[in-house]
Amino acid sequence: HHLADLVARAARSTPDLAAIVDVTSDVTLTWAQFDAAVSAEATRLRAAGAGAGERVLVRLGNGAAFCVSVLGALRAGAVSVPFGPVAVARELEIVLDDCRPAVVVAAEGDEAAQRCGPPRGATLLPPPDLRPAADPPAVEAVGGGEDLALLIYTSGTTGRPRGVQLSHRAVLANREQTASLRPAPVLPVDRVLLSIPLFHVFGLAAGLLQACWAGATVVLTERFDPAHVAEVLVRERVSGMAGVPSMFRALLELPPGDLHAATAGLRLCTSGGAPLPPQWLDEFRTVTGLPIYEGYGLTEAGPVLTMNPIGSPPKPGSVGRALPGLELRLVDREGRPIEEAVAAPDPEDIDEDISDPAHDTGLVAVRGPNLFSGYWPDGTGGPDADGWFRTADVGFLDHDGDLHLVDRSSDLVIVNGFNVYPREVETVLAELSAVAEAAVVGVPDENSGEAVKAVLVRAEGAQLTEDEVLVHCTERLARFKVPSVIEFTDALPRTPTGKVARRQLAGRS
Ligand code: ATP
Repeated sequence: HHLADLVARAARSTPDLAAIVDVTSDVTLTWAQFDAAVSAEATRLRAAGAGAGERVLVRLGNGAAFCVSVLGALRAGAVSVPFGPVAVARELEIVLDDCRPAVVVAAEGDEAAQRCGPPRGATLLPPPDLRPAADPPAVEAVGGGEDLALLIYTSGTTGRPRGVQLSHRAVLANREQTASLRPAPVLPVDRVLLSIPLFHVFGLAAGLLQACWAGATVVLTERFDPAHVAEVLVRERVSGMAGVPSMFRALLELPPGDLHAATAGLRLCTSGGAPLPPQWLDEFRTVTGLPIYEGYGLTEAGPVLTMNPIGSPPKPGSVGRALPGLELRLVDREGRPIEEAVAAPDPEDIDEDISDPAHDTGLVAVRGPNLFSGYWPDGTGGPDADGWFRTADVGFLDHDGDLHLVDRSSDLVIVNGFNVYPREVETVLAELSAVAEAAVVGVPDENSGEAVKAVLVRAEGAQLTEDEVLVHCTERLARFKVPSVIEFTDALPRTPTGKVARRQLAGRS
């Protein structure tokens, strides 16, 4: 019932197996070493004031030190607040003022973190010792169950970042739900590459903690650089890779022969966090022979909600079905279930047109043991009295009960009172072979309230004019959905977690 016990458990069963391979600092920790370092860190953090329920903010990049501090804080009974080293001082200050940590662990020379020391009452500590003295005293984990384990701030793509309170119970339940899929996504023999940020729930819970659950090895890189990652895949004999869609797309930029060789040892690729365009899935499979299994989740759910069944060909455009032990239904804005959501039309049509009016779309609502305990600090906004939590994601269920996401309700663009889901327009734009990437946002418009703006990245060496885009869209979309502003750019701005930075594109950042 305690997250830090996952490390102790793996250390008992496979003490000499590698737990963490930190490629950046060239450190490998076995499970026994990891467990000892976590105990030593728990002792150090406690001595610095991190008692039960206190927050410990860990501002370190992907690496062994990050893992040791986060799990050390948990073992001490404190709440871990994983935080990105890329965040600037202003963003850090907002979070520090909100969660008031007792201890901040940051790299030496981290100026932003240094400024946040004594005035806010936090003790600033350097990264932990990864090789504590032989046989440090074992530390018994404090707390667990309903106690808060992780306080994770969402990236705030839709507004101010909010602290999501995740208990040990919620995060462990989601590990168990994920591990109970057959075949299991992570096996003890796996070596899983995580280049996604560990300060985000996807990397931390679905990546690191899922590997701890299985006793698998995690291979960590600090950044995602396609050529470097290709080299690491081979050198570290990686068997599984969890990524965000833009990473798989970046790998596709490598010469096909190199990519094929780099991925030859891979067993499983999983993608989540943002929609995986069907073209990328196809292209990746053509070059590497590997399917990418797409899942869907959110911080509030610890995070995994759905997954394409491993072993069967992934269904393009679908995020798969609900994990075992999780109920999922579609509701309207008042939370009323949408009837007959499962009675979908001919399966042939499903991938063709996500906005088919025959689909009953609704907001995705979920109920299960993996849900959060509301937002920091007062726990409001959590599941309702019946245990349901309504997400901001709009989707529909096909005849197999597989979920398709249409868009986020907050991304909806309203043109003259008509609803435009950016993803539908993006899907149409991506049909153009000269388009490598497309993003659609709403911008204020004097006449229509909002107007549809498309930002496009041309495929390498391709020619494409605004007129060609307009002709294509006019043929495929109702008039009000056709972009009235079209811009070309070299690369779409993305958050570190692979999401298109929509506010920035709309000029609202
Ligand atoms: P904020 O809520 O503050 O904007 P955030 O978007 O970073 O922050 P997360 O919990 O990281 O919060 O993101 C969850 C959201 O990511 C989901 O609600 C959904 O919109 C999107 N998402 C996750 N996986 C997928 C997927 N496979 N396809 C489409 N969207 C996805």
